[in-house]
Amino acid sequence: MRPEDSRVILVGAGPGDPDLLTIKGDRMLRKADVVLYDALVNTEMLSRCRSTAKFVYVGKRKGNAPMAQEEINRLLLWHARHHRLVVRLKGGDPLVFGRGHEEVSFLADHGIKTEIIPGLSSALAAPALAGISVTQRGITESFWVVTGTLSDGTLSKDIIHAAQSTATLIVLMGMGKLAEIASLISALRSPLEPMAIIEQASGPAQRQVYTTAQNIVADALSHRLATPAVIVVGNVVDNIMPGFVSGSLNSYQTSGITHV
Ligand code: SAH
Repeated sequence: MRPEDSRVILVGAGPGDPDLLTIKGDRMLRKADVVLYDALVNTEMLSRCRSTAKFVYVGKRKGNAPMAQEEINRLLLWHARHHRLVVRLKGGDPLVFGRGHEEVSFLADHGIKTEIIPGLSSALAAPALAGISVTQRGITESFWVVTGTLSDGTLSKDIIHAAQSTATLIVLMGMGKLAEIASLISALRSPLEPMAIIEQASGPAQRQVYTTAQNIVADALSHRLATPAVIVVGNVVDNIMPGFVSGSLNSYQTSGITHV
């Protein structure tokens, strides 16, 4: 197949609830010949695809052996050369800690153009689904979305910069570094700084814990909170929207709020 005959589309799948996929993403999924999808993608979405569609799992998950990015790139290229419509379905937004740029660049190097359909990032969806308003008049002027873990396994230095501001801090991929993050926040803000963890946002097992920097490690342990989870730091965590009901609009039932 000539490169100009095929279309590759990077689609953001949103945080998990299949209803949080965009209408445009859904439309492409229904037309796709092949879908390459990640571990964080809810596979329920794939039931919307054509019966002839092929599915290729290219999941990476901490703890399990990850598929190398080079291999994902090669698979994408192969499918782009053999199918008319290739959907690369990625958790959340494809360009928020999603290595979407690398995939688009690799395909471009081989003469294949890629379109993007943005998705709802867990960075914004998780706090919202836990009743946390990431900006709030009179409380925060900004929010930072930071990765907890850099590619070399160390803690991001940007967390130190963010901790020195009054911004709401939203940490992705931070559960493995929770103790380090908590002690940084305790030192640079206060041990009483409000913090929250939202686990499996928008899914049937969503859980959230609202706590403080000094207690967060013990609370995460006692509730056995694990990845995927978003960590939120800042005074907005102390201002859960009054009247907020967790999960009332989700297509799934959520397990409610844990106050600690
Ligand atoms: N592109 C994705 C992020 C990929 S990095 C996005 O925009 O959401 C993977 C990290 O995202 C996880 O370690 C976790 O911090 C966060 N994450 C993704 N889905 C999540 C979910 N449903 N609930 C909580 N955190 C989630």
